[in-house]
Amino acid sequence: MRYIDPDGREIVDANGNVIYTQQGGWAKNAPTDAVRIGNSMMTTRTGTNQWNKMVDAKYPIQLSISSRNRGGKLGEAAVQTRNHVNSATNKIEKVEVVSVKITIFEGSIKNILNPNVKGSNPESQNLIDTYRTATQTVDQAIGAVAVHESVHGTSMDNITQDVENTLTGTNHDVEAEPRALEYKVLNETFNQNLKPITPISIDKIEKK
Ligand SMILES: [Zn+2]
Repeated sequence: MRYIDPDGREIVDANGNVIYTQQGGWAKNAPTDAVRIGNSMMTTRTGTNQWNKMVDAKYPIQLSISSRNRGGKLGEAAVQTRNHVNSATNKIEKVEVVSVKITIFEGSIKNILNPNVKGSNPESQNLIDTYRTATQTVDQAIGAVAVHESVHGTSMDNITQDVENTLTGTNHDVEAEPRALEYKVLNETFNQNLKPITPISIDKIEKK
């Protein structure tokens, strides 16, 4: 069993070193991938909220970017938990998170941003269309995917429901909350990308 620092391990690199703190920001040797994910998230309000939840987590969270194209799978959160199950009732009494590893598939993101690519169902097509409309850069899309995965990695409701699905065969929709926040970030990104129209000077027109 692994000892968990009660003060939190925050955002860590592959060796478990803390690479971001609220007080000091990024550590000098922070891996490029993690910096890219964090900075993309912090460009929107919802992304910043979710980023702060990860920084304040009481367990280590590792962030990486993979160049792989996994089709509709844009990201992944591997959540390691310690589950306390009552042996008499077989009920899950408590779920503790040990560690989280979030991977963003940049190859998948680039793939869906390609206008020739089609979604496998109407729901995925709608998401793809939203990414194409709302984002102007791959990094903006990375921010939205990271927000989705951050819910899987920090929401105790989401984590507990996922454990229940696996251990007791329940059918909680664990994608609803992450998907809702993903759309929210895409909407914020879309609004931020809108450039204000330069007002016409009446004075200039009159004088000609
Ligand atoms: Zn998900």
